[in-house]
Amino acid sequence: MTLRPRPDWGTIPREPERYGRSHLGLPLEVWRPRPGGACRLLLFAGLHGEEPETTYALSRALRLLPGRSNDCAVVLAANPDGLLRGTRGNARGVDLNRNFPARNWRPEAVTHRSTLEDASDILLSPGDTPGSEPETRALIALIEELRPEQVVALHAPLACIDDAGETELGRRLAQRTGMPLVRDVGYPTPGSFGSWGGDRGLPVITYEFPLAATEVLMRDHVPVLVELLSDAGG
Ligand SMILES: [Zn+2]
Repeated sequence: MTLRPRPDWGTIPREPERYGRSHLGLPLEVWRPRPGGACRLLLFAGLHGEEPETTYALSRALRLLPGRSNDCAVVLAANPDGLLRGTRGNARGVDLNRNFPARNWRPEAVTHRSTLEDASDILLSPGDTPGSEPETRALIALIEELRPEQVVALHAPLACIDDAGETELGRRLAQRTGMPLVRDVGYPTPGSFGSWGGDRGLPVITYEFPLAATEVLMRDHVPVLVELLSDAGG
């Protein structure tokens, strides 16, 4: 693959389009593939605002590559309000990864951990109803429009490739990153993006970065993301 010259790595080479607005009115942005062709892959980051390293890494990958991908769409910040405020949920305290209208959506409060060692006892809402949040609805509408063949969702810091379908791409990512390929993350995730995709027959891979310093994550995972974007670009 051809990378942009190093002095150009500070900026993204093209402008995104808007696919919606967050609760606070921030733009939801997508870097679309070339019009007219199939969308082979949608890659998104930052659904959890406490995982800004996913946005940073995907942005770096986008900045290294020239021009527009033939068949890959990129969303850097699926939850811009959460990224702005440094919260896992959106500005309304909803964990967006429990708000998708999957068959397993549950109305009860959802819990998460503050660190991997802590008890999972911090509460967030799954939303009043499935798909109640503007960020969730906009991402669904984007997927219905783009019809990607596969989606890779970036999260942290569970250090695994979660691919319920054990697809070829999932196996390749596990091999490339040295992280285990798993069929679930070991606890229920009702209303998650992956559950929603599974209900619709949309293959979803959750790429969980390991717990590591940001600079280490960039060194180890930006090249993988660059390969993913350029592979998809053919
Ligand atoms: Zn996450």
